[in-house]
Amino acid sequence: MKITDVKCAILGNNPVVRIVTDAGVSGYGEVESYKSYLKPQVLHYKQYILGEDPTDVERVMLKIRHRGSFKPWGSAVSAIEMALWDIAGKAAGLPVYKLLGGKVRDRVRVYNGAVRFPMDGHAPADYADTMAKMKAAPEGFTIIKQGIGFHGPMPRTVPDFFYGDPGGGGHGDYNRGLLTERGLAHVVACVAAMKEVLGDAIGLALDCGPGRTVPDASRLARALEPLHVLWLEDLITGDYTPYVNADVYREVTRSSSTPIHTGEQMYLRQNFKELIERHAVNIIGPDPCDVGGIAELKWVAEYADLHGILMAPHGTGDG
Ligand SMILES: [Mg+2]
Repeated sequence: MKITDVKCAILGNNPVVRIVTDAGVSGYGEVESYKSYLKPQVLHYKQYILGEDPTDVERVMLKIRHRGSFKPWGSAVSAIEMALWDIAGKAAGLPVYKLLGGKVRDRVRVYNGAVRFPMDGHAPADYADTMAKMKAAPEGFTIIKQGIGFHGPMPRTVPDFFYGDPGGGGHGDYNRGLLTERGLAHVVACVAAMKEVLGDAIGLALDCGPGRTVPDASRLARALEPLHVLWLEDLITGDYTPYVNADVYREVTRSSSTPIHTGEQMYLRQNFKELIERHAVNIIGPDPCDVGGIAELKWVAEYADLHGILMAPHGTGDG
């Protein structure tokens, strides 16, 4: 079997990749809706993989993997990887998980990172209110992830929140600065209000940054210890930050028993090496659609497991 064409259509806002073969089989992969601008990048890779056997997934990936990078620039590579697996599965007459070693469990617990309700403000009562709505949602989520602090409008809407310029950059902008005492207390009060609603039946994870300083990150992690949150995500770097800062994360992780999490923007297994080997976080969150694809995610997952580090994969849609 040979690759004869690579196409990309924008459906809604999502770039959808189609790899065409001479065997009448096509493979499909999708990039999240925030990244319609990646279509030219997808098509750029066509020249490197035409004529290759798409069922030799790793061999094809070696031709383009080095031409991607951290989020958002790993998405096109990841979508092509998934389209290749789609062809490999169809050619074998098997679901792709069978080609990757088979399944381990029949059900997977997921968290709510996308079902959202408009909030009236960013006071503790507003966070309690939105948690009550999510708790009542028909999906029956057992984990909810909520943005707080720098991950959301709090720096702009809470007066005197931090020592810095609230600005108005796009999602994941590297806004940062020391929190005021009032700012930190506000965050803790909001988390306490959410936990009050959720109780111990629904887990609460918090997307926190990026942009915290080490003292603020440690103070927050220690202050939240009694509330048993599932994890604090992206305190230092994350989202669209094109680097990791594993040594800084390690310092934060060592400072409390609250689980620390990062990794959604990261590309390739090699960039997880230091984070995992140094036990710099407790949980990693690679996104299969940013890290380089399904098999890339499995590499990272197995290496993390060898080191006693948990994984909560990020989902599409910037969840
Ligand atoms: Mg996140």
